[in-house]
Amino acid sequence: MGRSLASGMIGALSLAGLMIAPAGADERKQLAFATVDRNAAQIAAISDSIFYFAELGMQEFESTKLLKDTLEAAGFRVDLGGAGMPTNFWAEWGSGRPKIAIVTEIDALPGGSQTPGEFARKPLVTGAPGHMEGHNTHGGVASGAAFAVKRVMERYKLPGTVAISFGPAEEQIASRPFIVRAGYFKDVDAVIYLHIRDSLATGYGLQNYAAISAIFTFHGKTAHGAVNPWDGKDAVDAVELMDIGFDKLREHLRPTYRAHRTITNGGIQPNIIPDTGQIWWFVRDASMPAAKTTYDKLVKIAEGAALMTGTTYDVQYAASAWPQLVSKTIAEAIQRNIDTVGAPAWTEEEQTLARDFQRSAERAVVGLRTTPEAFGERHQATSSNDNGDVSWVVPAGLLNFPASVPGIQYHEWHAAVTPVSTISHKGQVAGAKVLAASIIDLLTSPELVAKARAEFEVESRKTPYFALLPAEARPPVDLNRGEMEKYRAEMRKFYLNKAPRFE
Ligand SMILES: [Zn+2]
Repeated sequence: MGRSLASGMIGALSLAGLMIAPAGADERKQLAFATVDRNAAQIAAISDSIFYFAELGMQEFESTKLLKDTLEAAGFRVDLGGAGMPTNFWAEWGSGRPKIAIVTEIDALPGGSQTPGEFARKPLVTGAPGHMEGHNTHGGVASGAAFAVKRVMERYKLPGTVAISFGPAEEQIASRPFIVRAGYFKDVDAVIYLHIRDSLATGYGLQNYAAISAIFTFHGKTAHGAVNPWDGKDAVDAVELMDIGFDKLREHLRPTYRAHRTITNGGIQPNIIPDTGQIWWFVRDASMPAAKTTYDKLVKIAEGAALMTGTTYDVQYAASAWPQLVSKTIAEAIQRNIDTVGAPAWTEEEQTLARDFQRSAERAVVGLRTTPEAFGERHQATSSNDNGDVSWVVPAGLLNFPASVPGIQYHEWHAAVTPVSTISHKGQVAGAKVLAASIIDLLTSPELVAKARAEFEVESRKTPYFALLPAEARPPVDLNRGEMEKYRAEMRKFYLNKAPRFE
């Protein structure tokens, strides 16, 4: 009740146009806003270039090269290839504490190639990957904001460090546990996690589900299916029994769980008793301890399936993600900047385009949002995001910026229609301003950082962090390599060949 009243008041103040920040902090933020505005074309050029690179996770070579060239030219130190991943990207400017980092990603999705601006299905390259979640926009917003912060730090001689982490393969929740393990966040005071949305928004609370992804391979003994099947040990029988065994368990799990699987090796042909069978599982829950409990039962079921069939098995860790623990303290600071910046002023043309698009995609015809979202604790989605691991080792805020069209769902080709539109470009500018202002708050207010830390100590202690990564685990750097190589030559024809330089 109290919360909805408070957010209602914030909304009313924004609507009344009372957006001028109090004097003091203000001048610095005005310089950041002016820097972002002056570099709007550069921000768009970065994001648009990454759209056409459309690189799948672990294959973000062109995207990270462009970001490296751009940020090095702007004076940043760039560490590319850390934590054992060639496309892991970390950039920073400044020195010492406080150290504030932007955490985001730039990978595309398989099969998402689409001609921008076309409402009908029309891939740029048939079958190729594409940005159908708009992660391309993260590149421009994060670098533009970091550059604006650098300008402010120089002008006002602010101590500290601003950093950007572009983690590889977010779509396969594949990299952040490795980046955390490599110690990148050890001396970081706070992070802001950045993601596209259809609105300018922040929020707090537990976000997304914990997930554990593991591949179970059974090993048996081959034999002729008709001549001597009694000599065989059927590894695919073990796969089936594991599946059936887990189905029996489902009734006894708490309703918050999710579990899904695909059989990745189901044999060769019926008259060959298969000596190899494989099944790939995702187990999820609202907390990592709950997901781990279910996962441990799943391993017991694999043991049982092997025992029943006389086979052996091995488990390969594929990926894991903690839910994101999002700080209310940092969210409140971000919200104040959202209220200052406000939603982009859309033209009638942009609103018409959005409505036409929604109509053509058979979604609610509501146009673009003209006000930021109401502030509050957010619903915990059942999907997963590997940056969750970061949020258990350092206080984390969350910022969404309005660069996509309401009702258009991510992970479908429609979402690749607008990431290089003026709607996206304007949303990126709004996002970069709020992001820069919020980093300035964190750099200049030791009280804010201390309060976020104190909150983090209390909240994170409720579920002590443990790493899921086995000690011997190495990042899956070959992920998507074949798929990307198949299309890259054709995709190259659409590259923008831009070399944006911040000024
Ligand atoms: Zn995403």
